[in-house]
Amino acid sequence: MKNEKLLNGHDLNGFTVEDIGDDHLFTNLKTPMKPDAFKLSDSEKKERISILFEEIMDVLGLDLTDDSLRGTPQRVAKMYVEEIFSGLNPKNKPKVALFDNKYQYNQMLVEKNITFYSNCEHHFVPIIGKAHVAYISSGKVIGLSKLNRIVQYFAKRPQVQERLTNQIAHELQSVLNTQDVAVIIDAKHLCVSSRGVKDDNSSTVTAYYGGAFNTSEKIAELYNYINI
Ligand SMILES: [Zn+2]
Repeated sequence: MKNEKLLNGHDLNGFTVEDIGDDHLFTNLKTPMKPDAFKLSDSEKKERISILFEEIMDVLGLDLTDDSLRGTPQRVAKMYVEEIFSGLNPKNKPKVALFDNKYQYNQMLVEKNITFYSNCEHHFVPIIGKAHVAYISSGKVIGLSKLNRIVQYFAKRPQVQERLTNQIAHELQSVLNTQDVAVIIDAKHLCVSSRGVKDDNSSTVTAYYGGAFNTSEKIAELYNYINI
């Protein structure tokens, strides 16, 4: 496997597909999706996933006639499609209305401690964390709850923390029509704490500082607000 340097035609810099997964490297800013990702309807997806998940449970040796397990494949399928991976489908992207910045507030606005639950795309176990997002208005503002919803939308995908950070930042830049956006994420990866190296204390911090945020003064100001 050490010779396997190409994945979908991309050079993996000498890493194998296994290395990529266990070291949580990622290959693309966009979530890698098939061109026909939405050929199946949500209900067709749920039906298919429930059959396949039932097979996984069966191979593991679980008795699917037991009352406690009988409904699990359907529950997992419903949870995947409607909840924890609903952010894969662009139809679930939050619609954002912009308002005039009529208070003429021109300092940074920080929405901090947005709790999110995502899943590691390499192991399909939870990533639990907090996102802090900030922007400086270019003349338009959005409702505060939309900042929250944008974070949740991108969290509800199989993810890698660096990509989650950048996807949230790029979406905010696009809807707010400004480069002046910052995103900081502090998260715990259960694939690190509950398996693998089993480190329960570590957390991972990632950051994106766009436009005016990319100076040490602005970053210090932002950290001051986050630490209030
Ligand atoms: Zn992982």
